[in-house]
Amino acid sequence: MKRLTPAADICKTKTVYLRTDGPFLPEQFRRRSRRVRIKFRPTAGEKRFFRKKRYTPPSKWAPLNRTVTYGPLQGSRWDNNFMPHMRGLLDAAVHPSVRYIVNRKAPQTGSSATNETLLAWCADMQPGPALVVYPDANTGRRRFKDYLIPVFTESPRLRPLLTGLAEDTSSMRIKLQTMLIYLGWSGSVTTLGNVSCRYLFLDEVDKWNLASSKKEADTLSLALERFRSYIYGGKALIISTPSDPEGPITQFWEKSHARFEYHVPCPECGTMQAISDDNIRFGDHRDPDEILRSNLARFLFPCCGALVDDRRRIKALQQGVWHEIVEESDRPPRPLRVVLDADHPERIAFYSPAWISPLFTHSEIAAAKLRATRDPAAAHYYDNQIRAVAHIPYRQGRKTDAILALRDDRPEGLVPGGGQTSCLLAGIDSQDNGFYFDIRAFGWGMSLPSWGVRYGFVDSLAALEQVLWETQYQDDAGLYYPVLLSVIDSGGHRTSEIYDFSRRHPQQIAAYKGASGRRAQPYSKTIIDRYPGTRTPLPGGVELYLCDTHHYKDHLAAKLRIKADDPGAFLFHMETGEDYAEQLCAEYFDDRRLWQCPRGKANHYWDCLVMQQVAVDILGLKWMNSAQAE
Ligand SMILES: [Zn+2]
Repeated sequence: MKRLTPAADICKTKTVYLRTDGPFLPEQFRRRSRRVRIKFRPTAGEKRFFRKKRYTPPSKWAPLNRTVTYGPLQGSRWDNNFMPHMRGLLDAAVHPSVRYIVNRKAPQTGSSATNETLLAWCADMQPGPALVVYPDANTGRRRFKDYLIPVFTESPRLRPLLTGLAEDTSSMRIKLQTMLIYLGWSGSVTTLGNVSCRYLFLDEVDKWNLASSKKEADTLSLALERFRSYIYGGKALIISTPSDPEGPITQFWEKSHARFEYHVPCPECGTMQAISDDNIRFGDHRDPDEILRSNLARFLFPCCGALVDDRRRIKALQQGVWHEIVEESDRPPRPLRVVLDADHPERIAFYSPAWISPLFTHSEIAAAKLRATRDPAAAHYYDNQIRAVAHIPYRQGRKTDAILALRDDRPEGLVPGGGQTSCLLAGIDSQDNGFYFDIRAFGWGMSLPSWGVRYGFVDSLAALEQVLWETQYQDDAGLYYPVLLSVIDSGGHRTSEIYDFSRRHPQQIAAYKGASGRRAQPYSKTIIDRYPGTRTPLPGGVELYLCDTHHYKDHLAAKLRIKADDPGAFLFHMETGEDYAEQLCAEYFDDRRLWQCPRGKANHYWDCLVMQQVAVDILGLKWMNSAQAE
């Protein structure tokens, strides 16, 4: 951080004693034999240049120096109460430890105005070259010309920073007395290359055209490359309305060191709390248009049951403070300021849903929420544009609660008796450090009911052998059931080891590999006669089942929709935990109707269940009935 602080403040000091010959001294005054007195008066520009600036944080600076340049309040002074949650975000952005500032937001929550305010603040307080990147060239040019340049021309404090030359406020860059502001857009290598910047403003990253060209890295990495040389003091502000879980803003959100949500005080009792759309109340009304017309939605503060209208919520928002989001609620969330000073996080993220913006009414949110329950497109809109979360289309039907509702009253390890069970099957997901297994009892016939018996993790194949064949699984009458067939994943990890394992247990283990994309056949069998990646022959060969995982996942998703007491239900033992249920809900359906697992989410047990279904197919279990078996 470099600040212009001359040895003496020439605007105030009357006399300056020079004891050496500075190169700036005219020749006649150098090597002077006696004291020379020169009358000196700095010009207006020199005064301005040497003026000591009092450091003012952006939230205090903006109301003094920033003019609103667009919208209904155009021309008026900036007021933090327009968008109260922006105060904390602006000040956190200039905190010394912070390098990445992520804002996952709904539209109309003041994020673009934040960009412009911060740029203006930088130009005045902490100048350094800046690059502002928009999704496309047109948006970029328009915002530069209509929104950003007026910020400088309309503020008395900032106007002197302009050079007055028309070419310095072109649509491609702004050259100020203190710094350069470049304009870039996604997909353009030319606008994103060859500049080194201290400040990066990346706007609407989820709308970016990420592939610039086949040869170059994607444009987002290209843009982030630009502030690499500013190891100290560099800042990247990354803002977007989210799209899907793979979208950049959600990825940045996941990678942040500290995440914050906005807490507001209850207007009745003053309790600070996060607010959410779950607390919007609209009585028994179910017609979105009716709710909008009569504006009858209210916000319920759960602390004391206070029911407030928009005006009082907006008042409460003005008293709000950002607090960290704590994963396990073992400690109360700390306020933003405390987290910044204590933990010095480098990557921070803010969550700005529609309800923390004064521009949204309760009724608008309530109406959008109601529409979302009826129409998938409205659900998409509601997730992205109101809740500011990634939209996962297929997930609504598979909440963890729905999985846990399928638990019956058997303890772990107990097989359903009374002739209900035909056999046990296992699915095994291989990892570098061990194996996730799931053992399930299957019934009879086409409806094929099934019951989870045991699941878990072991760290060796020896331990796995114990679980599968040395443990006795019995029903409450004491009858034993062997694990008839186990399907093990050989696709990713430890392939050779698993081939050997399945050769040692030819009738009991089937090696499995998930195919990419959809296939004509649910599974096909090939004989592998060499170890992977080598020419070493595999004596006897190994049967490998290449499977259409999407087919089996569709089937499983349908199975999980059957109610617990309906025929063919897919049940779990009573000790089935939330973490297990979460793994079963991790994946979602994308627009191409393919199953996807969001990065960083575990889905091991889900894969185990897929492999059990493959075992069901291999054995032709659906074609057996209990009469045949006898
Ligand atoms: Zn209250």
